[in-house]
Amino acid sequence: MPLVPMRQMLDEAAKGGYGVGAFNVNNMEQIQAIMEAAKATKSPVVIQASRGARKYSNDKFLYHLMLAAAELYPEIPMALHLDHGNSFETCKSAIELGFTSVMIDGSLADDGKTPSTFEYNVEVTKKVVDFAHERGVSVEGEIGTLGGIEDGHGAGGTGLEHLTDPEQAVEFVQKTGVDALAVAIGTSHGAYKFTSKPTEEVLKISLIAEIHKRLPTTHLVMHGSSSVPKELQDVVNQFGGKLKPTWGVPVEEIQNGIKHGVRKINVDTDSRLAITGAIRKVFAETPEKFDPRDYLKPAREAMQKVVAERMTQFGQAGHAGDYKAMSLEEMRGYYKRGSGCGGGGCCGCGSKKK
Ligand SMILES: [Zn+2]
Repeated sequence: MPLVPMRQMLDEAAKGGYGVGAFNVNNMEQIQAIMEAAKATKSPVVIQASRGARKYSNDKFLYHLMLAAAELYPEIPMALHLDHGNSFETCKSAIELGFTSVMIDGSLADDGKTPSTFEYNVEVTKKVVDFAHERGVSVEGEIGTLGGIEDGHGAGGTGLEHLTDPEQAVEFVQKTGVDALAVAIGTSHGAYKFTSKPTEEVLKISLIAEIHKRLPTTHLVMHGSSSVPKELQDVVNQFGGKLKPTWGVPVEEIQNGIKHGVRKINVDTDSRLAITGAIRKVFAETPEKFDPRDYLKPAREAMQKVVAERMTQFGQAGHAGDYKAMSLEEMRGYYKRGSGCGGGGCCGCGSKKK
């Protein structure tokens, strides 16, 4: 299947009442792990690359690996998404390369660290939406600020400093026409999200319901949503790792979010932990080995296992064959007709500007 616009994938997820995992990649093994998991569970999937990933691997490599995946797994709908674009230029370069979806994170200034103003966020997001929709590409925005720092990107903190204000979210969607909206509900990037099993005090799932009530057709996105399971932490630590005790976002809380309009769930840390644990195990148990395939193969299998588990838990499993991919050209027509977010009223924002 060709790369699918993320908007179509999330519209389908909304129809089916499920969520779609968005898994981060930096290299071939991670893409293979995700595609094998998608094949085994018959799942549509979002594969995403951050600015850090694009720099690490050179995004031409990533893009062509994705084309290989599309060729090898014709039955799997997949979207290629830019995670946390920091500026119009970053998003533009991803779109020109062939990404079918971009995130513009205008909640932070273009240094990717300093919380910005609402006005700045609206302005930069709208600029990206106009450019992207003209090309049939989907856009995710963010309102409120996540905690933690990943790949040098993030505001730090616990995630409770700048939660999403539901009223402001409505204004943001009306003014920008984004397809999907990342909301800040207390989650953080990275492994150290919570110091104990999170309660409603620190993980505000009720806020999702509040936002969904006001924006029933805007696809909500949960960032920083690895569950950081103890089993994966234990493997890393058992073989010489030094992770401090930590808690992620429990799967049942994500499932609760999906009931209230969450359609995209970002997972990176769980994959990283699975990979690192598997590699450490090989190094510790068979230190005589030195062929990278001896540890990359189990690493890839460990990531595939956790990704497949999430696909089943998020509900996307079994939905790969539900629809035919729309081309970016068809998607462009969809936005032009005004039937998409961006002024047609599809997002429930009531804006009829086109
Ligand atoms: Zn994020």
